[in-house]
Amino acid sequence: MLSQMYRLLYVIGQYLYNNQIQKEYDFLKNTEFLGRKEIDSFQLKELKRILTLAYSKSTFYKDLYDKHNLKINEINSLEDLKGIPCIDKKQLVENSQQIQIEQSFVKIYPAKTSGSTGQSLKFKRNKSWDARNRASISLGYQWFNVKPWELNGYFWGYNFDTISVIKTRILDAMQNRFRLFSLKKSALDSFIKKLENASYLHGYSSMIYEVAKYTNSLKAKPILKLKLIKGTSEKILETYQREVWEAFNLKIISEYGAAESGIIAFECPHGSLHNFWQNVIIEEVDNEIIVTNLVSDSFPIIRYKLGDYVTIDSSTNCHCGRNGVIVKDIAGRVGEKILGHNHSYPSLTLYYVFKNLNQIGIQLNYTAVQRVKGELELSVEQKVDKKSRMKLLAEFEKYFNNDVIVYLKDSVRIKTESKKQKDFISLLEKEL
Ligand SMILES: [Zn+2]
Repeated sequence: MLSQMYRLLYVIGQYLYNNQIQKEYDFLKNTEFLGRKEIDSFQLKELKRILTLAYSKSTFYKDLYDKHNLKINEINSLEDLKGIPCIDKKQLVENSQQIQIEQSFVKIYPAKTSGSTGQSLKFKRNKSWDARNRASISLGYQWFNVKPWELNGYFWGYNFDTISVIKTRILDAMQNRFRLFSLKKSALDSFIKKLENASYLHGYSSMIYEVAKYTNSLKAKPILKLKLIKGTSEKILETYQREVWEAFNLKIISEYGAAESGIIAFECPHGSLHNFWQNVIIEEVDNEIIVTNLVSDSFPIIRYKLGDYVTIDSSTNCHCGRNGVIVKDIAGRVGEKILGHNHSYPSLTLYYVFKNLNQIGIQLNYTAVQRVKGELELSVEQKVDKKSRMKLLAEFEKYFNNDVIVYLKDSVRIKTESKKQKDFISLLEKEL
């Protein structure tokens, strides 16, 4: 009964939010097992379509392609992609107005990137782009016989502001979801209790690992019926997998994507991270992933250096029968911890601190290094006045509670590279 109610809530909610999701899901489902040749011809057709659109509607792409003397009508195979200039995050951020296409889209969906490197990108998604993204995730769940409306445990950080906690709890309850708000024993106990009835668990892999470690330390292990554990946004370390397998008898499955690229790949039950070729063309150039988004009509993203180091395998045939290329390894994302004297904190704490500061009008580019346990050296690009400094340190206090001392250096030039910058580097020996 209850599950029927959540199903209904989900279907209605999804329809009101974006009534195209089901259509996109059906498209993905119907094309799931196409052969390599059909995939190539589909991608070439969509590539030409998005190139023509970008060139005619976005001044950024028109200028860029004119400068490189690129003739779109001379693109006749996927190999010709190589002649199209690459772009990076900095260019997207600096030219977002010239890239965004404002023409008569029925409905648009605001989106932004995490800004964990200090460069947050805001853009608008057209309806079918948004729908395709959501449909891709649902299809990935379907591979594991998981329905999105089934009870699920979720890790997506936490915010200590009481109103946000209440709001989050209400939204979670409506989506049959519960989450972990801290790594305290009482919070972990209650999370694991709820997990007994859950069908899937998803979010940051470093947090999944923490919960697994705690579960393994318990005398009486919970009896669970989880069908899927999905890690997003962070590299899934082997040490995590070992601990998670011991705790839950499942491995962490990867979902790979980013706000601007959409869902790039999802891991199948045979362990291959399959590219959603209907959504994006991916290339490997100098070990870096280059993404061409085939559905981002409102904000074209063509030959974009996402900033991750990857290996792409285009020759292996997976036993599941899906024929898109396989992402072998994503080396660019690592979930690390900041060690305090008494507790440890996900490096994402930095992201929350700076996100909160951003909301009160303090915008800073930062990078942090930990050399000594209980200490964090923070470098900020901007000049930080006394008032902002106080606010910044107070924000850290909320999370660290005197357990980690923050040393702040301002007016520091933060190295910018085309590859994704790490906002946190730990020079401590791994305790793993
Ligand atoms: Zn497969």
